[in-house]
Amino acid sequence: MYPDLKLFIAGEWRDTDSHIPVINPATEEVLGQLPRARLSDLDDALSAAERGLKLWSATSPRDRADIILRAATLMRERQEEIAQSITREHGKPLPQARLEVIRGAEFFEWDAGEAMRTYGRIIPAAQGHKFAVHHQPIGVVAAFSPWNFPMSQPARKIAGALASGCSIILKAAEETPAGAIHIARAFQDAGLPAGVLNLVFGEPSEISAHLIPQDPVRLVAFTGSTAVGRHLTGLASQHMTSVLMELGGHAPVIVCEDTDVDAAAVSGAVRKMRNAGQVCTSPTRFFVHETVFEDFAARFVARAAKTIVGNGLKDGVEMGPLANDRRVPALSELVEDARNKGATVATGGGALSGSGYFFQPTVLLNVPDTARIMQEEPFGPVAVINPVPSLDAAIAAANAVPYGLAGYAFTNRADYIDQMIDEVEVGNLSINTLEASMPETPFGGVKSSGYGREGGSEGLDNYMTVKHVWHSRKIV
Ligand code: NAD
Repeated sequence: MYPDLKLFIAGEWRDTDSHIPVINPATEEVLGQLPRARLSDLDDALSAAERGLKLWSATSPRDRADIILRAATLMRERQEEIAQSITREHGKPLPQARLEVIRGAEFFEWDAGEAMRTYGRIIPAAQGHKFAVHHQPIGVVAAFSPWNFPMSQPARKIAGALASGCSIILKAAEETPAGAIHIARAFQDAGLPAGVLNLVFGEPSEISAHLIPQDPVRLVAFTGSTAVGRHLTGLASQHMTSVLMELGGHAPVIVCEDTDVDAAAVSGAVRKMRNAGQVCTSPTRFFVHETVFEDFAARFVARAAKTIVGNGLKDGVEMGPLANDRRVPALSELVEDARNKGATVATGGGALSGSGYFFQPTVLLNVPDTARIMQEEPFGPVAVINPVPSLDAAIAAANAVPYGLAGYAFTNRADYIDQMIDEVEVGNLSINTLEASMPETPFGGVKSSGYGREGGSEGLDNYMTVKHVWHSRKIV
């Protein structure tokens, strides 16, 4: 139920002489030893990706789509095996891991369809002249995916690159390598030519520093923290290399006085704890109209406190551990800081004792603006609930962070919704649902949450360049 851990370069699985242990965060047992790429492995991946690009960019979009769809079908067929390995390495409950596998397959299926719709356009011109706009694959992609969704995060990047006719070198997260390994296996079995998809692991800073300056690398695609995104964008800018950055979020939820308070509170508490809050769109800062604040907070706290926490392989578990040990002190410090500055810790507040990196579902009430958590994304099962006197105040609070990824609201008032569409600074706004995106909708942020979009009909834009061709019938 856990795959052999290898690098995948030029269509072959490869081991090295140096390894990183992969730990089950629920039990702290070692699941396997992940090979650490040497510089020579990275150079091999780069040469393979250059050869892969030549072949794949010349492959018809329909043939590319066929292979991508075949791989997605294999992932669906292998759902249980993949989900079991995701739960072991990441900790999330098995039903959530199963859904993640399907969502990953859906990203491939959507982008496979988009591969055939990367239309250019004809621009009107004088007789004897033709202006035509072509979209072409940008080149070799260097991609970096994080550990919070071991399968669907790599899927986003690989799907975008392959559908656009690019080749890719992906460095997936060292904590959770199995999802990406299963994807590479599915593509190998689906007949993807060697070198189009290469998978490496190792020291993240060494790999990015080596790959990004290389001439064939034309796009750096990254999902992760804003700090690392800024660093990689800096490296890429020195070589005028494009970037696609899906960075942190600190999602606000505006709860208006007209909503069904009970339903909104339960939805918020359940959704906040999904993936142990380790989601860039996780609903975190709840700004609740003061007339319904007490009711909302009481219902939210009661539901959050009932969350069943445990090993994700066990039936009925709703929330697993944090994905790695460094997140436990990071969250404890944020909660302590809020408590010291006057917030009420209404439930939870610290790590659970025993083995595994478990953190209690935590709700903080009346958190002052000076608390670090009002600016820093907790990326864990911690919610903030504060009262606000008006929608204007809620929107001002929602926008008072450097992030702008997802934002949510509960209301049925058309005037409120209209104002939020105009004024809430996010890339994704959801009303009466805490779901932020689907494969067919464009996903990405504004402000420090990044550049570019994944998914939707915009999803391949970053992976392609625009070439304008002016054809004159006669030499002029
Ligand atoms: P981190 O900033 O150390 O790392 C984030 C990711 O970037 C990891 O996958 C890591 O392997 C990678 N990384 C780090 N340095 C790199 C480098 N020089 N080159 C290439 N890749 C590099 O943070 P962390 O402790 O792993 O995670 C905590 C924070 O990361 C969270 O607070 C959250 O903001 C962010 N995060 C965001 C997402 C997301 O979906 N947007 C996912 C995971 C983590």
